[in-house]
Amino acid sequence: MRKKLQQSKRIVIKIGTSSLMTANGKVNYQQFDRLAYVLSTLNKDGKEIVLVSSGAMGVGLDKLNISKRPVSIPGQQAISAIGQCEMMNLYSRFFSHYNQTVGQILLTRDIIEFPESLKNVTNTFNALIEMGIIPIVNENDTVAVEELDHQTKFGDNDQLSAIVANIIDADLLIMLSDIDGFYDQNPVNNPDATLFHTISQVTDEEMAKAGGEGSSFGTGGMITKLKAAQYLLKNNHEMILAKAEDPTIIFDILKGHEIGTYFSNQPELIKEETTE
Ligand code: ADP
Repeated sequence: MRKKLQQSKRIVIKIGTSSLMTANGKVNYQQFDRLAYVLSTLNKDGKEIVLVSSGAMGVGLDKLNISKRPVSIPGQQAISAIGQCEMMNLYSRFFSHYNQTVGQILLTRDIIEFPESLKNVTNTFNALIEMGIIPIVNENDTVAVEELDHQTKFGDNDQLSAIVANIIDADLLIMLSDIDGFYDQNPVNNPDATLFHTISQVTDEEMAKAGGEGSSFGTGGMITKLKAAQYLLKNNHEMILAKAEDPTIIFDILKGHEIGTYFSNQPELIKEETTE
């Protein structure tokens, strides 16, 4: 048992596009519904929940019935603008079934460089949480640019979710992916790969075990997930990497069941708890 996880109060959940869309590029309503059910239930139980959701591009393409993302950046930003709106509409509708209000937070990376911006962002999160509302976070694709002197892009939502978990001082980041954890080699190509149950530090050795590009939707693969974990461990935070297929898995994670890979820099505590 991972007893410590039972005490987690402030929890960030990150879900990727591939877990919100079906294999043929349609909105996966079941996933939206289950996520809304689980997160609303936890919020009502007194947890403080923040959702980081990708999916604007995928939902936008589906809404417009386009199968390929545009090549140009403005074209992509336009689809994201449409998809973000539709995605929030979906979340709002599904969460309202469970009597739960949500709020949208769109961020760019430069908020961490400007203390005043950071303060405002943190205050908004705290105000929403205090009101019992679940903030739903995504990158602000319209303004996010990748320039040397003005970097406003997070790069990927794995990093974004780790930064959010850090700035709101979350007890735990639950990263839901198309894979059930971090293995010693990419299990997609190697059936003999074994799952790591706990990781206490992410060094070059771990990074070298993350290969391949992952899903056609996702942009990150395992490397960005490890980088997110590395950042959190450095800042004394924790992360679980687990499979998004059935979001009710979050209930079991928070009961302390051994699910997915647990990134924590307190391995002694974990050991002691798992030998009980
Ligand atoms: P998501 O879209 O859920 O955010 P990605 O598909 O981008 O996730 O990344 C997860 C993928 O990373 C897995 O499906 C797998 O193909 C790949 N991967 C590469 N190396 C590893 C590893 N060592 N352990 C687990 N998955 C790995």
